Amino acid sequence: MAGVIRRLDETVVNRIAAGEVIQRPANAVKEMIENCLDAKSTNIQVTAKDGGLKSLQIQDNGTGIRKEDMEIVCERFTTSKLQTFEDLSAIATYGFRGEALASVSHVAHVTITTKTADAKCAYRASYSDGKPKGPPKPCAGNQGTQILVEDLFYNVSTRRKALKSPSDEYSRIVEVVSRYAIHNSGKSFSVKKQGETVADVRTLPNASVVDNIRSVFGNAVSRELIEVGCEDQKLAFKMKGYISNANYSVKKCILILFINHRLVESTALKKAVETVYAAYLPKNTHPFLYLSLEIAPQNVDVNVHPTKHEVHFLHEDSVIESVQKHIESKLLGSNSSRTYFTQTLLPGLSASGGTEVKASSATAESTERVYAHQMVRTDCRAQKLDAFLQPREKPPPDPEQAGPSSDMTAAKTAPPDGTEMDDEDDADMLEVLAAQEAQVLKGEKGCSDSNQDALRKRPRKEQKQEEKEDEDLTAAATPKRRAIKLTSIKELRAEISENTHKGLQEMLQNHSFVGCVNPQWTLIQHHTKLYLLNTTKLSQELFYQILIYDFGNFGVLRLSTPAPLYDLAMLALDSEESGWTEEDGPKEGLAQYIVDFLKRKAGMLEDYFSLEIDQEGNLTGLPLLLDKYTPVMEGLPMFILRLATEVNWDNEKDCFRDFSKECSTFYSIRKQFILEAEPGEEQDAEGNSWRWKVEHIIFKAFRTLFSPPKNFSEDGSVLQIANLPDLYKVFERC
Ligand code: ADP
Ligand code: MG
Repeated sequence: MAGVIRRLDETVVNRIAAGEVIQRPANAVKEMIENCLDAKSTNIQVTAKDGGLKSLQIQDNGTGIRKEDMEIVCERFTTSKLQTFEDLSAIATYGFRGEALASVSHVAHVTITTKTADAKCAYRASYSDGKPKGPPKPCAGNQGTQILVEDLFYNVSTRRKALKSPSDEYSRIVEVVSRYAIHNSGKSFSVKKQGETVADVRTLPNASVVDNIRSVFGNAVSRELIEVGCEDQKLAFKMKGYISNANYSVKKCILILFINHRLVESTALKKAVETVYAAYLPKNTHPFLYLSLEIAPQNVDVNVHPTKHEVHFLHEDSVIESVQKHIESKLLGSNSSRTYFTQTLLPGLSASGGTEVKASSATAESTERVYAHQMVRTDCRAQKLDAFLQPREKPPPDPEQAGPSSDMTAAKTAPPDGTEMDDEDDADMLEVLAAQEAQVLKGEKGCSDSNQDALRKRPRKEQKQEEKEDEDLTAAATPKRRAIKLTSIKELRAEISENTHKGLQEMLQNHSFVGCVNPQWTLIQHHTKLYLLNTTKLSQELFYQILIYDFGNFGVLRLSTPAPLYDLAMLALDSEESGWTEEDGPKEGLAQYIVDFLKRKAGMLEDYFSLEIDQEGNLTGLPLLLDKYTPVMEGLPMFILRLATEVNWDNEKDCFRDFSKECSTFYSIRKQFILEAEPGEEQDAEGNSWRWKVEHIIFKAFRTLFSPPKNFSEDGSVLQIANLPDLYKVFERC
């Protein structure tokens, strides 16, 4: 039986149409916010219950609706904003079809309360299917309009069922309100759940765009924004906005796009900007952008369906290309010096202990293709931060030298032929060092040229009789070195090597020194990433490792005048740091005890650690751990005190470990360095500033002598703070 074709009931037609226009609460919110803005509102408050499905209230302080117009305001095609077809081409307001309110009233119960400036009171009317249920009733109210939408889709069960959870709908509402709030800085917005006192998003009337981005998306992004703006007369468009710089990235691209002040989407534009950022951001991460485009109205398809957020406009490709170029130029020139706090914990470095450290040439081959604009200087001989800050310290670098990364690690990982490795001592740093020194002696200089050979003085020790047969003659040109057979030391060495973070080690081997922030923090670059390193912690660990690896083989730093241990102990006890209290007994007695105690250990301390104490109880020598490096002597009294109190002298392994820990703390680069040196020249007796020491002694040693422990990648000792291909460009501009 053939179906009878019947004309659909008008209300059914309207309802179907309405369901097309308003597909979910967030669509209604958007339409109504636009109405508020059209009505010149400066304060817009949105309240939702059950994700806007139960109720949705939009309150503004705009012009209001005249009582006479309340009758027809919810009818289709009623609008106060457009009279003739020609007006369409010069439309400056959002709404123009008079469709939004009508649609909402066909799928929900709508109540409008409104007051114009010259009306004596407010009026309220309820609507259903586009028509008022009765004449407007006078009531109390401030100027502006409140639109209450209740039981959205009560009569369109299919639509209602298609919707996700109320919480999902609510977050879409929040998203729409936040975006309009960002775009309309100077006007205040708020959105909250009904019954809540605190708004989920709230912007203030005097806040800037960046303030609003901060209150919606947080500090992490608002701190990393670059202002953009460009204009093209020929293409008849203007663009302005804020975009995240290369320090910032998120899992999903956030593009807040307004075209002629209407929140829209443009897949083409999104793709275009993502391509630009792809060169700057880590893989699978994305930028944040807020862009406001103004395009000549005649060039935009204004007749776009309300639910069609995807826009198209004339000369789309050219406009997009122009925007793309502008963003690229801004990214390149962005200043990313304020990045110390975006602390990502080394996402690129894994703690996989098993992989062999590769020479840098091999690493370079395995990395992805680098585009020209991603190129950075990673040659450690190339210019660095200090060159710009302290030109007097160094002659300008030779531009000829800036070439591809030189192969520093080759010396370490692939010793030159003829250098025999002693498998007795588990291929430790000593062999590596020896191999390098041998290489330097052969005249094959790497980056570290001048300091490489002076890195460490050879031991001055006479060999012990019983260890004579264990002579290590690897480095033929250097004095003989005695091998250490003590199990405790072997175990301590094994602990260090087993706990090495290979990724970090590779990074330190191949890093480019950027500059010292202060004695405690140093910036280095590795590939395209910038890292902030805790110099104190790293140098402490470095000295610890040297103490363990070079055990029994140190040179001596002889003191110009012997320092009485008694005086040192007294100094320490006088300091707050010692924590001395009356209960501990008189300081004099304690100091004497310390002197006597250490004197008894003098033989062992001298033999193993080159810590020299004479018969009279004076300290005469300290271990020479790195050539040209002397610890800050302010730390000496505490070091002496702690030797007596913090070291477990009863157990061999504990004793060596504790001593090395204390000694390395004393030797580490610490805040005192700056206190000691300032004001004026930050130099030590030999005329070397602490900056020089950090760069030319400590960080040189990190390249070759260091096995960074795994925990450094997690405890904040090494922080990745930027991934900037144009790092140097930035610094050049400083
Ligand atoms: P359009 O915005 O396309 O004109 P709408 O259905 O969104 O159509 O709104 C119909 C009319 O109702 C508007 O033209 C305007 O006159 C009036 N109106 C709606 N919301 C408000 C408001 N918040 N303040 C003042 N007038 C409003
Ligand atoms: Mg409208």
